Amino acid sequence: MTYYAIIVAGGTGSRMGASVPKQFLELKGLPILMHSIRAFYQWPLVPKIILVMHPEYHEHWKKLCEEHKFTTPHTLIAGGKTRFESVKNGLSLVKSPGVVAVHDAVRPLVSHQFIVDLFQSAQKNGNAVPAVKCRDSIRKVENNISVAINREHYYLVQTPQCFSAELILQAYEQEYKEEFTDDASVVEALGTTILLTEGDYKNIKITYPEDLLFAEAIIGRL
Ligand code: C5P
Repeated sequence: MTYYAIIVAGGTGSRMGASVPKQFLELKGLPILMHSIRAFYQWPLVPKIILVMHPEYHEHWKKLCEEHKFTTPHTLIAGGKTRFESVKNGLSLVKSPGVVAVHDAVRPLVSHQFIVDLFQSAQKNGNAVPAVKCRDSIRKVENNISVAINREHYYLVQTPQCFSAELILQAYEQEYKEEFTDDASVVEALGTTILLTEGDYKNIKITYPEDLLFAEAIIGRL
Protein backbone atom coordinates (compact mmCIF):
# COMPACT_ATOMS: atom_id res chain seq x y z
CA MET A 1 0.00 0.00 0.00
CA THR A 2 1.30 3.47 -0.84
CA TYR A 3 0.70 6.22 1.68
CA TYR A 4 0.73 9.86 0.63
CA ALA A 5 0.77 13.04 2.69
CA ILE A 6 -0.24 16.21 0.89
CA ILE A 7 0.84 19.12 3.04
CA VAL A 8 -0.88 22.30 1.96
CA ALA A 9 1.20 25.39 2.54
CA GLY A 10 -0.18 27.47 -0.31
CA GLY A 11 -1.78 30.18 1.81
CA THR A 12 -0.38 33.65 2.20
CA GLY A 13 -1.32 34.01 5.87
CA SER A 14 -2.87 37.44 5.71
CA ARG A 15 -4.62 37.03 9.11
CA MET A 16 -1.30 36.66 10.91
CA GLY A 17 -0.15 40.16 9.98
CA ALA A 18 3.44 38.91 9.49
CA SER A 19 5.62 39.66 6.47
CA VAL A 20 6.00 35.97 5.61
CA PRO A 21 3.21 33.38 5.45
CA LYS A 22 2.60 31.77 8.84
CA GLN A 23 3.94 28.36 7.80
CA PHE A 24 7.45 29.91 7.68
CA LEU A 25 7.33 31.49 11.13
CA GLU A 26 9.59 29.82 13.66
CA LEU A 27 8.40 27.61 16.46
CA LYS A 28 11.20 26.54 18.82
CA GLY A 29 13.78 27.66 16.27
CA LEU A 30 12.30 25.73 13.34
CA PRO A 31 9.78 26.92 10.70
CA ILE A 32 6.27 25.67 11.53
CA LEU A 33 6.15 23.78 8.25
CA MET A 34 9.22 21.68 9.12
CA HIS A 35 7.55 20.49 12.32
CA SER A 36 4.50 19.40 10.30
CA ILE A 37 6.57 17.53 7.69
CA ARG A 38 8.69 15.81 10.36
CA ALA A 39 5.58 14.54 12.14
CA PHE A 40 4.67 12.62 8.97
CA TYR A 41 8.09 11.31 8.00
CA GLN A 42 8.65 8.79 10.77
CA TRP A 43 8.64 5.03 11.22
CA PRO A 44 6.67 2.79 11.18
CA LEU A 45 4.56 4.38 8.46
CA VAL A 46 6.52 6.63 6.11
CA PRO A 47 4.34 8.33 3.51
CA LYS A 48 5.43 10.01 0.28
CA ILE A 49 5.33 13.69 1.14
CA ILE A 50 3.96 16.20 -1.36
CA LEU A 51 4.43 19.79 -0.28
CA VAL A 52 2.18 22.31 -1.98
CA MET A 53 3.40 25.89 -1.92
CA HIS A 54 2.90 29.10 -3.89
CA PRO A 55 5.71 29.24 -6.53
CA GLU A 56 6.69 32.68 -5.22
CA TYR A 57 8.01 31.01 -2.05
CA HIS A 58 9.82 28.00 -3.55
CA GLU A 59 13.23 29.67 -3.47
CA HIS A 60 12.64 30.93 0.06
CA TRP A 61 11.74 27.39 1.14
CA LYS A 62 14.85 25.89 -0.48
CA LYS A 63 17.01 28.44 1.35
CA LEU A 64 15.29 27.62 4.66
CA CYS A 65 15.95 23.90 4.07
CA GLU A 66 19.65 24.63 3.56
CA GLU A 67 19.83 26.91 6.60
CA HIS A 68 18.17 24.36 8.87
CA LYS A 69 19.85 21.33 7.21
CA PHE A 70 16.36 20.00 6.62
CA THR A 71 16.71 16.85 4.52
CA THR A 72 13.36 15.10 5.06
CA PRO A 73 12.42 13.83 1.57
CA HIS A 74 9.50 15.64 -0.07
CA THR A 75 8.32 16.77 -3.50
CA LEU A 76 7.60 20.47 -3.89
CA ILE A 77 4.69 21.43 -6.12
CA ALA A 78 2.90 24.71 -6.97
CA GLY A 79 -0.09 25.83 -4.92
CA GLY A 80 -3.23 27.33 -6.41
CA LYS A 81 -5.47 30.31 -5.70
CA THR A 82 -7.69 28.36 -3.31
CA ARG A 83 -7.01 25.50 -0.90
CA PHE A 84 -9.11 23.32 -3.23
CA GLU A 85 -6.81 24.11 -6.14
CA SER A 86 -3.72 23.49 -4.00
CA VAL A 87 -4.95 20.05 -2.93
CA LYS A 88 -5.89 19.24 -6.52
CA ASN A 89 -2.35 20.10 -7.65
CA GLY A 90 -0.97 17.80 -4.94
CA LEU A 91 -3.28 15.00 -6.07
CA SER A 92 -1.68 15.09 -9.53
CA LEU A 93 1.15 13.03 -7.98
CA VAL A 94 -1.15 10.47 -6.33
CA LYS A 95 -1.94 7.07 -7.83
CA SER A 96 -4.60 4.59 -6.77
CA PRO A 97 -4.50 2.25 -4.86
CA GLY A 98 -3.22 4.18 -1.90
CA VAL A 99 -4.23 6.17 1.14
CA VAL A 100 -3.95 9.96 1.14
CA ALA A 101 -3.68 12.28 4.12
CA VAL A 102 -4.21 15.99 3.53
CA HIS A 103 -2.76 18.20 6.22
CA ASP A 104 -2.71 21.94 6.83
CA ALA A 105 0.94 23.00 7.09
CA VAL A 106 -0.04 25.24 9.96
CA ARG A 107 -0.87 22.36 12.33
CA PRO A 108 2.68 21.56 13.49
CA LEU A 109 1.74 19.82 16.75
CA VAL A 110 0.22 16.75 15.14
CA SER A 111 1.77 13.51 16.46
CA HIS A 112 2.95 10.60 14.33
CA GLN A 113 0.80 8.08 16.22
CA PHE A 114 -2.27 10.25 15.54
CA ILE A 115 -1.34 10.21 11.83
CA VAL A 116 -0.80 6.43 11.76
CA ASP A 117 -4.19 5.78 13.40
CA LEU A 118 -5.91 7.96 10.80
CA PHE A 119 -4.13 6.29 7.87
CA GLN A 120 -5.09 2.86 9.18
CA SER A 121 -8.66 3.85 9.81
CA ALA A 122 -9.02 5.29 6.29
CA GLN A 123 -7.41 2.19 4.80
CA LYS A 124 -10.07 0.08 6.52
CA ASN A 125 -13.12 2.33 6.15
CA GLY A 126 -12.44 4.59 3.16
CA ASN A 127 -12.06 7.81 5.12
CA ALA A 128 -11.14 9.13 8.56
CA VAL A 129 -11.56 12.72 9.66
CA PRO A 130 -10.46 13.91 13.11
CA ALA A 131 -12.74 16.21 15.08
CA VAL A 132 -13.07 17.47 18.63
CA LYS A 133 -16.21 18.36 20.54
CA CYS A 134 -16.92 22.03 20.87
CA ARG A 135 -16.06 23.06 24.44
CA ASP A 136 -17.52 26.55 24.38
CA SER A 137 -21.18 27.42 24.32
CA ILE A 138 -22.40 28.33 20.86
CA ARG A 139 -24.80 30.98 19.66
CA LYS A 140 -26.08 31.41 16.14
CA VAL A 141 -26.42 34.97 14.88
CA GLU A 142 -28.93 35.85 12.19
CA ASN A 143 -30.22 39.33 11.41
CA ASN A 144 -28.39 40.61 14.50
CA ILE A 145 -30.27 38.26 16.79
CA SER A 146 -28.35 35.54 18.64
CA VAL A 147 -29.86 32.23 19.64
CA ALA A 148 -28.31 29.55 21.86
CA ILE A 149 -27.78 26.22 20.13
CA ASN A 150 -26.98 22.79 21.52
CA ARG A 151 -23.21 22.35 21.39
CA GLU A 152 -23.58 18.58 21.73
CA HIS A 153 -24.32 18.52 18.00
CA TYR A 154 -21.18 20.42 16.97
CA TYR A 155 -17.62 19.28 16.33
CA LEU A 156 -14.55 21.20 15.21
CA VAL A 157 -12.81 19.47 12.35
CA GLN A 158 -9.03 19.11 12.13
CA THR A 159 -6.45 17.73 9.73
CA PRO A 160 -4.92 15.39 8.64
CA GLN A 161 -8.01 14.10 6.89
CA CYS A 162 -7.42 10.69 5.30
CA PHE A 163 -9.09 9.03 2.34
CA SER A 164 -8.60 6.14 -0.01
CA ALA A 165 -6.80 7.51 -3.06
CA GLU A 166 -9.62 6.39 -5.34
CA LEU A 167 -12.20 8.34 -3.32
CA ILE A 168 -10.31 11.61 -3.00
CA LEU A 169 -9.18 11.57 -6.64
CA GLN A 170 -12.80 11.19 -7.71
CA ALA A 171 -13.97 13.90 -5.28
CA TYR A 172 -11.52 16.47 -6.64
CA GLU A 173 -12.90 15.98 -10.16
CA GLN A 174 -15.89 18.05 -9.00
CA GLU A 175 -16.25 21.74 -9.76
CA TYR A 176 -15.05 24.03 -6.94
CA LYS A 177 -17.71 25.36 -4.56
CA GLU A 178 -17.16 28.06 -1.94
CA GLU A 179 -18.33 25.79 0.85
CA PHE A 180 -15.38 23.44 0.23
CA THR A 181 -13.28 24.57 3.21
CA ASP A 182 -11.66 21.18 3.81
CA ASP A 183 -11.35 17.80 2.10
CA ALA A 184 -14.20 16.16 4.00
CA SER A 185 -16.62 18.70 2.51
CA VAL A 186 -15.37 17.85 -0.99
CA VAL A 187 -15.63 14.09 -0.47
CA GLU A 188 -19.03 14.44 1.21
CA ALA A 189 -20.38 16.24 -1.87
CA LEU A 190 -19.96 12.92 -3.73
CA GLY A 191 -22.54 11.42 -1.37
CA THR A 192 -19.97 9.67 0.83
CA THR A 193 -20.58 9.52 4.59
CA ILE A 194 -17.71 11.12 6.49
CA LEU A 195 -16.42 9.07 9.41
CA LEU A 196 -15.29 11.18 12.34
CA THR A 197 -12.51 9.95 14.59
CA GLU A 198 -11.32 11.44 17.86
CA GLY A 199 -9.32 14.61 17.32
CA ASP A 200 -6.66 16.08 19.57
CA TYR A 201 -7.14 19.46 21.26
CA LYS A 202 -3.38 20.03 21.05
CA ASN A 203 -3.47 19.76 17.25
CA ILE A 204 -4.16 23.48 16.88
CA LYS A 205 -4.18 25.46 13.65
CA ILE A 206 -1.87 28.44 13.81
CA THR A 207 -3.89 31.31 12.42
CA TYR A 208 -3.39 34.29 14.72
CA PRO A 209 -0.26 35.49 16.58
CA GLU A 210 -1.61 34.22 19.93
CA ASP A 211 -1.84 30.69 18.49
CA LEU A 212 1.95 30.70 18.18
CA LEU A 213 2.24 31.41 21.90
CA PHE A 214 0.00 28.42 22.69
CA ALA A 215 2.06 26.25 20.34
CA GLU A 216 5.33 27.31 22.03
CA ALA A 217 3.85 26.36 25.40
CA ILE A 218 2.56 22.99 24.18
CA ILE A 219 5.71 22.01 22.27
CA GLY A 220 7.76 22.72 25.36
CA ARG A 221 5.81 19.98 27.17
CA LEU A 222 5.72 17.29 24.43
O1 C5P B 1 -6.68 29.73 4.85
P1 C5P B 1 -6.90 28.48 5.62
O2 C5P B 1 -6.66 28.70 7.07
O3 C5P B 1 -8.15 27.75 5.34
O4 C5P B 1 -5.72 27.53 5.16
C1 C5P B 1 -5.65 26.18 5.52
C2 C5P B 1 -4.44 25.56 4.83
O5 C5P B 1 -4.61 25.60 3.43
C3 C5P B 1 -3.11 26.29 5.16
O6 C5P B 1 -2.13 25.33 5.45
C4 C5P B 1 -2.83 27.03 3.87
O7 C5P B 1 -1.45 27.20 3.63
C5 C5P B 1 -3.45 26.12 2.82
N1 C5P B 1 -3.82 26.85 1.59
C6 C5P B 1 -3.28 26.43 0.38
N2 C5P B 1 -3.57 27.13 -0.78
C7 C5P B 1 -4.37 28.21 -0.74
C8 C5P B 1 -4.94 28.63 0.48
C9 C5P B 1 -4.65 27.93 1.64
O8 C5P B 1 -2.52 25.45 0.34
N3 C5P B 1 -4.60 28.87 -1.86
